[in-house]
Amino acid sequence: MEEENVVQIKDLYLNFYTYDGVVKALDGVSFGIKKGEILGLVGETGSGKSVTSLSVLSIFVPPGRLQKGQIDINIKGKKYDILSLNDATMARVRGKYVSMIFQEPRAALNPVYTVGDQISEVYFHHRKAELVDNTIAQLREDLKKASGLRRTIYRADLSLLEKMKNNPKSVSLRLSMKIPLLNRFQNRIKTEARKMIVQMLKSLNIPDPARVIDMYPHELSGGMAQRAVIAMSLACNPMMLIADEPTTSLDVTVQAQILLLIKDLQKKFHTSILYVTHDLGVVAETCDRVVVLYAGNVAEIANVFDLYKKPLHPYTQALLESIPRPGHKFISIRGIVPSLVDPPKGCRFYDRCDYTQEKCLHIEPQLVEVEKDHFVACHLHYGGS
Ligand code: SF4
Repeated sequence: MEEENVVQIKDLYLNFYTYDGVVKALDGVSFGIKKGEILGLVGETGSGKSVTSLSVLSIFVPPGRLQKGQIDINIKGKKYDILSLNDATMARVRGKYVSMIFQEPRAALNPVYTVGDQISEVYFHHRKAELVDNTIAQLREDLKKASGLRRTIYRADLSLLEKMKNNPKSVSLRLSMKIPLLNRFQNRIKTEARKMIVQMLKSLNIPDPARVIDMYPHELSGGMAQRAVIAMSLACNPMMLIADEPTTSLDVTVQAQILLLIKDLQKKFHTSILYVTHDLGVVAETCDRVVVLYAGNVAEIANVFDLYKKPLHPYTQALLESIPRPGHKFISIRGIVPSLVDPPKGCRFYDRCDYTQEKCLHIEPQLVEVEKDHFVACHLHYGGS
């Protein structure tokens, strides 16, 4: 694993077992995500973008099944293979270290809970200790100003909160949580969580966050709902964020605001972002480096300037040429993505490529660094293997 990589995906093979046959959706995908960068993952529908990004969270939706591969994550200088972690450990990694913004914000939010309820769930799951500490600090302040009966009540609350901090499994604490007169300290924790959520919503430029926190998803506009989802994914300040086409369902002006917001957040929190999209315009504006996927293979990896200035893979060239430009004839990539049930033996792009050679039909091109930090999988650039 390269030192600066937060996540390193190595030789990922994933199949879908369908009635029509075994779909070889990922065929040896490898790339790394550096600390603090925005890495674009681009390709057509069916190229394997979403399954690759879900693999980083160790989520394999049936009938998808991982065949082999390794995904190393670097947490505080220690390396872990995500794919070998058990469910309980993985549940701690998700949300806390790696988080995801889903494509359709309304589908990602639960319609029967308020925004605040849904975000607080993340705080209670991953940041409970911090919540309890903040509540204790606030209660100590309140205690200084209190007198008489109020002081006695605050003291009782404080003692239960300290028990919660030092011995959360104690029987007396669990009993107190069930007795209405004694469980007031839990309301204090909820108030503290609310304060933290309002602060988070404010940092995402959500107007009137104290009102939005009590709203249900159907009361929010598309842009606001996506901001709420972003707030949820950032609640634990994760070291890596996967943004799976986060602006696809939004109109252009809101899309621009969300893109700006994601860039700002990356600068502010130094979060590494895997930005999944098929929109090369968004990639040019947002990303530092780009991974181009085609039919489950990595076709090219380069920094965003090199990729747009000098694309090496014929598929990347065709993708860039197919961006609509005013005054230019629209050029689409001819043909369709091959069936991955029975993919071509050599290069998976050969029947759509203008430069096909004999060896492209039989020999699978390997991903090779042909210029500094510029990798390509094409026989044109290294003479084949
Ligand atoms: Fe085209 Fe051959 Fe390169 Fe594939 S390996 S992109 S078919 S030139």
